Amino acid sequence: MTVPSIADPVRSAALFERARAVTPGGVNSPVRAFNAVGGTPRFIRSAQGAWLTDVDGNEYVDLICSWGPMLLGHAHPEVQAAVLDAVRRGTSYGAPTEPEVELAEEIVARAPVERVRFVSSGTEATMSAIRLARGFTGRDVVVKFAGCYHGHVDSLLASAGSGLATFALPGTPGVPESSTALTLVLPYNDRTAVETAFAEHGDRIACLITEAAPGNMGVVPPEPGFNRFLAETCRAHGALFVSDEVMTGFRASRLGQWGLDGAVEGWRPDLMTFGKVMGGGFPAAAFGGRADVMSRLAPEGPVYQAGTLSGNPIATTAGLATLRLATDEVYAHVGAAADTVKTAASDELSKAGVAHVVQATGTMFSVFLTEGAVRDFDDAARTDQAAYAAFFHAMLDHKVYLPPSAFEAWFLSSAHDDRAVQTVLDALPHAARAAAQ
Ligand code: PLP
Repeated sequence: MTVPSIADPVRSAALFERARAVTPGGVNSPVRAFNAVGGTPRFIRSAQGAWLTDVDGNEYVDLICSWGPMLLGHAHPEVQAAVLDAVRRGTSYGAPTEPEVELAEEIVARAPVERVRFVSSGTEATMSAIRLARGFTGRDVVVKFAGCYHGHVDSLLASAGSGLATFALPGTPGVPESSTALTLVLPYNDRTAVETAFAEHGDRIACLITEAAPGNMGVVPPEPGFNRFLAETCRAHGALFVSDEVMTGFRASRLGQWGLDGAVEGWRPDLMTFGKVMGGGFPAAAFGGRADVMSRLAPEGPVYQAGTLSGNPIATTAGLATLRLATDEVYAHVGAAADTVKTAASDELSKAGVAHVVQATGTMFSVFLTEGAVRDFDDAARTDQAAYAAFFHAMLDHKVYLPPSAFEAWFLSSAHDDRAVQTVLDALPHAARAAAQ
């Protein structure tokens, strides 16, 4: 029997009730609602370093890090100082600013892109990259993988049609069939499916978009050489290879997932999308790539794309400060802390007799409560969600805030020090036993 070491979330529950009266489901992004694990979502009052404090005064070690962005932990003093300084000069001008140029230069120096355009969310980044790919190639079909999430772009909220290389069905009400009729959804890590799709539709395919390493079905690393194979297949058919690094960018490693495969193997995507870490906790994202492709974008070229708050000076200042502070030492620390947590999680689950597999790419990892390796969405879907819910709540009761869904990456930061990691290690045996019941 687990003895909770935190106060009942009385104020969170009261706020949730008020929130539900004015906001669908009480939250502004679905997974925050705890629907997959049950219970009361915690309303957060403040955060510092590796710790979140909820409105009932409970403190939790944060293993979500705002779903990736907070690589340096919360309220990092230097990021905070840069942001406060920028705020004093005004918050949005609707005219170009120096931080935009500096952040673009920083990204171009780190990632294999020649030009970048800023937007305010990862969704906008992927939506715009696809429009640009279609505008550049004059083709209309987009290929994506089941289980890869690219934001809530209509044409990408698609589920696989029956059989390989058939066009997709809308994955949600509200998306008309015409919006997904040009989307092909394939199983991840499946070269034969990709070859078949390109053999049948190659001359109509504008681009293939993939998470550089999927994190949105839990972490499912690309099999060795898979991204290179995708890049080469696209090139052979005159399609663009769009690598979505919204989650992995400047997170999986200093150079993102590309630093773990493309940089080593010597290939580059045609277009990339970024978000999360590059916004330093503010709404900023970007897409970028080959100069000849990016120059098709307005005002240089004919493909329209715009945004009132794109390249916002506060967001770009936060992103710039974050990327400049994200040194090799930061990634080494996050990687080592992640290794400690994932090894301990696996050990405790083994001791408790819970089937599981831990999968990682760079500093990102997931714990799947299922047998055997997870290489695609069908494998991920076998995860024992009830066991995860029990695991999640036992961790929460022991001051650790995990993603409230079994299909997510766990994120650490450079602020996860020995005390924070030890809190996680102390919680894990309780959670593993809860998952076993
Ligand atoms: N692409 C990937 C790989 C993501 O993980 C996400 C969000 O989690 C998005 C795109 C969408 O980004 P946003 O939530 O900022 O719209």
